[in-house]
Amino acid sequence: MVTIDNYDFKGKRAIIRVDFNVPLNDKGEVTDDTRIRAAVPTIKKVLAEGGAVILMSHLGRPKKNPDPKYSLEQIIPAVEKNLGTKVLFAGDCMGEKAAEMAAALKAGEVLLLENLRFYAEEEGKPRGLAEDATKEEKEAAKKALKEGTQKEFVKKLASYADCYINDAFGTAHRKHASTYLIAKYFPNDKMFGYLMEREVKAISAVMEAPQRPFCAIIGGSKVSTKIGVIKALMDKCDSIVIGGGMTYTFSAAQGGKVGKSICEPEMFPVALEILELAKEKNVKLVMSPDALICDKFSEEANTQTASVREIPDEWEGVDIADQGKAAFREHILGCKTILWNGPVGVFEIDKFSTGSRVVADAIAEATQNGAFSLIGGGDSVACINKFGLADKVSYISTGGGALLEYIEFGTLPGVEAIRD
Ligand code: AMP
Repeated sequence: MVTIDNYDFKGKRAIIRVDFNVPLNDKGEVTDDTRIRAAVPTIKKVLAEGGAVILMSHLGRPKKNPDPKYSLEQIIPAVEKNLGTKVLFAGDCMGEKAAEMAAALKAGEVLLLENLRFYAEEEGKPRGLAEDATKEEKEAAKKALKEGTQKEFVKKLASYADCYINDAFGTAHRKHASTYLIAKYFPNDKMFGYLMEREVKAISAVMEAPQRPFCAIIGGSKVSTKIGVIKALMDKCDSIVIGGGMTYTFSAAQGGKVGKSICEPEMFPVALEILELAKEKNVKLVMSPDALICDKFSEEANTQTASVREIPDEWEGVDIADQGKAAFREHILGCKTILWNGPVGVFEIDKFSTGSRVVADAIAEATQNGAFSLIGGGDSVACINKFGLADKVSYISTGGGALLEYIEFGTLPGVEAIRD
């Protein structure tokens, strides 16, 4: 397999799928350039080896073409600052100008294409359907798009370059034109960028050969969004710590009273199935026996501690309490591999964030003692950053949905497209 380190870029044009889906303020300025910084090593490598670079990305969710609010032109100053070099802009990702600019690129030059999602072909999701379109009509429109203009779109993007690099882990779970379909035009000239390479290596290490005991901490708000991953983890982990809003669905499914806590009654059968599966597969499930409950969802709330099975009617569980904190901490400190996705409470509100802080501290301490810790998913990463512990854990994944799907299915379309 070719890699970015053994490929000869001299005189070649590399089209790189990056994730420049960065937050912008009202003036169109980049407020957090983490994702741009993350792509720099790959871009610089190609340039240093005598290649030219064509960058392609999406930004937000535009619904029309063009849509100035989502134009990648706005991020040029941030990209130039990070690369320390001028960035040419094509003003479109299709059309003659983009093709001409790509063809004219010289070694050491960088060309940025306009937002790929200005075109429905990038995602393969048809636009402009009547509001009352039937399911059959929607399916037919999707098929027509995929078999028609999407093919042209992919071919055109591929025609700009001699080789393809995917360095956008955050979108690697999508079968989009730029993350998946384009790869087949480069059977011998496709590779991961450094960021993708690192993500794939870290996640594979955890999922395929973890040091044991291996524990996953799954928090967040709802069971419904985490069932797939919890079930998949049953085959890999020695224990699963379940926290966050999910706790109350598990409690209520077993007859507990959860007051106004977040709860998904339609998930009761699934929660009971997970409890059974854990017994069958000999996976220890760790849940907090107590909850921090509040009378309103704000920093001014009154709080008290209650059993997760006896929350008064007008109260809501928003964090783990003392017994849960002690149990989670002790459990985490006994593990050699730790995967964390999702806060165990409403960490955005300081008053309800102390449980997530205990978890983050315990993970940092376990890492210090030799465990491998992988943190992934927007909110747990936000948590680790909020508590200033980012450099105390082994690996922070840049993918939320991508990480969860990687765990659930053992691979991702964007990874397969390169390995194929
Ligand atoms: P997710 O995107 O599913 O990982 O959920 C993350 C969100 O879950 C965060 O915004 C947390 O505030 C929220 N969350 C965690 N615990 C609770 C809880 N007990 N009740 C309501 N929301 C929660």
